Amino acid sequence: MWIVPEAKIADLMDRATCFTAIEGVFAAMSRGDAYNFPVIRESIGHADALYGFKSGFDRQGLALGLKSGGYWPGNEAKGLTNHQSTVVLFDADTGKVKALVGGNLLTALRTAAASSVSIRHLAREDAKVLGMVGAGHQSAFQMRAAVEQRQFEKVVGWNFHPEMLDRLANTAQELGLPFEAVSLDELGAQSDVIITITSSFDPILSAAQIKPGTHIACMGTDTKGKQEVGADLVARATVFTDEVAQAISIGECQHAVADGLLDKADIAELGAVINGTHTGRSSAEEVTLFDGTGVGLQDLAVAAAVVDLAIAKGVAIEVDF
Ligand code: NAD
Repeated sequence: MWIVPEAKIADLMDRATCFTAIEGVFAAMSRGDAYNFPVIRESIGHADALYGFKSGFDRQGLALGLKSGGYWPGNEAKGLTNHQSTVVLFDADTGKVKALVGGNLLTALRTAAASSVSIRHLAREDAKVLGMVGAGHQSAFQMRAAVEQRQFEKVVGWNFHPEMLDRLANTAQELGLPFEAVSLDELGAQSDVIITITSSFDPILSAAQIKPGTHIACMGTDTKGKQEVGADLVARATVFTDEVAQAISIGECQHAVADGLLDKADIAELGAVINGTHTGRSSAEEVTLFDGTGVGLQDLAVAAAVVDLAIAKGVAIEVDF
């Protein structure tokens, strides 16, 4: 088996490779070539940790395996990342373990790639202003990947904890874009594309704050009870997701569906747009919303790509197992 340690990932993986892997696996899911198994996520009653598995199988790419890990809130005090994950890949022909891959940076990159794929396929071509809601660890990754999709001229941002806004300002500066910290009303009025990436349990943006033609990528809601935008906004938008089952159970759509404002049948897979079986955005005035819940197949796709790169560059560690 091959081991690709966490410390090697940064030098191996780039955003373009990640984008291709995520776009490909969304398309495979929509064709029925790849499917996710039910997610397990449990509070383990130790170290306040949330631990779980995301797994699946891509019959076309032959990626079989799981990402295991979760959230350990006390890690930061120990000099470690709170989110911890590892990907295990198996040989689809024999069931033998194939690779063990550090999953922390890959999770950040694949999540950023998902909103980036949604922008590529759903945002207006003339989008100029990117709105960021959230300024945590993940926000910088989302911004870097997003600006590659359109000719953005400016980034505006809002965060529940304003003292964290420096992360958005610094990332925009690194990307050569002006940054402005704004109110939520201003953010909605200015933005052509909005990414929400927070751990909020209450709606932050409502339908009245969004201008026609906006594309919103809701990326923070990945657990039952979390919520970033009002159910009224989800109901107003044309809604796309990575996987419908996850969107209505642990994603942003859970609330609008529970409130009877959105029917499961009205949620489209982003993969269908990539495959050309859904037209995607139908007018310049339409509000589109991508509910990016984060599926196990994304993790397998980027891990499989990084193993290939690591073997090709001679940095994968081979272990007789
Ligand atoms: P982080 O802890 O570094 O940042 C948390 C962010 O949420 C900060 O901007 C913080 O100010 C904001 N926040 C905290 N409490 C809030 C509240 N009550 N109301 C509004 N905002 C609040 O986390 P991160 O690594 O940046 O991840 C952000 C979110 O994205 C998390 O919820 C995480 O679970 C989720 N996530 C989703 C995926 C996916 O695939 N969809 C992948 C990775 C992370």
